[in-house]
Amino acid sequence: MFDGLNLNLGSSGDGSHMASSDARDDAGTAAPAARPEIENVIIVGSGPAGWSAAIYAARGNLQPLVITGNEPGGQVAVTTEVENYPGFPEGLTGPELVERMQAQAEKFGASVEFDYVTAIDISGPPFAVETVSDKSYRARALIIATGSSTRKLGVPGEERLTGRGVSYCATCDGFFFRGKELVVIGGGDSALEEALFLTKFATRVRIIHRRDQLRADMILQKRARANPKIEFIWDTVVTGINGENMVESVTLKNLKSGQTSELRTDGVFVYVGHLPNNQVLLGKLELDDQGYVITDRLMRTSVPGIFAAGEIQDHRFRQVATSVGQGVAAAMEAEKYLAELEDRAYPGHQESEAPALLEAVA
Ligand code: NAP
Repeated sequence: MFDGLNLNLGSSGDGSHMASSDARDDAGTAAPAARPEIENVIIVGSGPAGWSAAIYAARGNLQPLVITGNEPGGQVAVTTEVENYPGFPEGLTGPELVERMQAQAEKFGASVEFDYVTAIDISGPPFAVETVSDKSYRARALIIATGSSTRKLGVPGEERLTGRGVSYCATCDGFFFRGKELVVIGGGDSALEEALFLTKFATRVRIIHRRDQLRADMILQKRARANPKIEFIWDTVVTGINGENMVESVTLKNLKSGQTSELRTDGVFVYVGHLPNNQVLLGKLELDDQGYVITDRLMRTSVPGIFAAGEIQDHRFRQVATSVGQGVAAAMEAEKYLAELEDRAYPGHQESEAPALLEAVA
C-alpha cells in the first residue's frame, strides 16, 4: 500500500529514505541498500541525459534512483573522442565523460542500479517499473532517458559475422585490426570520427557512403579527406558481408551505375544512424512516426509525471550538450511536479487529510 505519510522529499522527509547504494551491517559488511517503498524519481537510462537529470534531481534533494540499462553510459560511452562538449577544449574520451557525470551524480546522492527496465506501468503516480533481474520499483515521477542504439545495416552476413569482423564500436574493437584493411559504412559524424580513429590501427580505411555528399561536419570532413589512409567510395551501398568464420569481403552496389562488385576487407564498421530505445514505451507514451517520445518544451510526455530527455525524444540535435540540457530541464520539471503533487497531498498542510488524498493517487 502507498506509504502515504512518507513523501520523503529530501530533508523534509522522516529520514527513512536511504540514498546510499552501500548500506553496512553491524559486522561492517556491505548489504544491499534499502530503498524507500516509493521513490521520488526514477531515471531510466544512464547516458548524458540520464546523468544530468540525476545530478540535478540529487541536488534538488530527491535522492533519485538511476537504472542504467544494458548499455551504461549510452552512445557516448562508445565514442572515442568528444571534442565539442563545452568546457573541455582538449577533448576527452566518451567513457571518461560519462564516468565523470556518474561520479558527480553519486556525489550528490543519486543511487545507481545496473539493471534493465523491462516494463513500465503508467497508471500512476506512483508509476511501477520492473527490471530484468525481477526487481520492481515504484516512483512518483519518471524520467525516461533510454536514448537510442546503433542501427543495423540489415544485409546478409551482418548478424552472423558480428564479433567476427563486423563491429559497431571502433573504440571497443579497433585495436584488433592492427595492420588490417577496413571499411566504414556511413557518411555522418560517427562514420568519419571513428574512421579517423581506426587509422591508428588499420593500414587502409575505406568509407563507403550511399551518396556523394557527406552529412558529417566540415572539420571532420577536412580531416578525413586529408588523411592518407582514408579513401571514399561514393554512391555505393553494401549489400552483403561475406566470410566463412571471419569477414573476408563485402559486396558493393553502385547506386548510380547499378554495378555490383566485391571488395576484400578484414573488418566492417557500421555507422548508419540510430533507432530509439522505446520497447518499454510502446502503447504507453505518445511516440512520433519514427518511434521517438513526443515531449513539450518542458520535457513532459503525454503522461503527467513522466518526463523524457536525450535521444529518446530528440532525433534532431543528438549532441552530448543538448542531451545534457534536456536532462537538466527534465529534472527541474520533475522537481516542480513533485512539489505540486505534495501540495495537492497536503492541502494547506493539514496532515489529517493527507492519507485519503494519497490513497487517491496510489
Ligand atoms: P547520422 O548523422 O544519422 O548519419 C548516418 C549516416 O548513415 C548517414 O550518412 C546516412 O546516409 C547513412 N545511412 C543511413 N542508413 C543507411 C543505410 N541503410 N545504408 C547506408 N548508409 C546509410 O548518424 P551518426 O553519424 O551516428 O550521428 C548521429 C548524431 O550524433 C548526429 O546528430 C551527429 O551530429 C551526432 N554525433 C556527433 C559527434 C560529434 O559531434 N563528435 C560524433 C558522433 C555523432 P545519408 O547521409 O545519405 O542519409
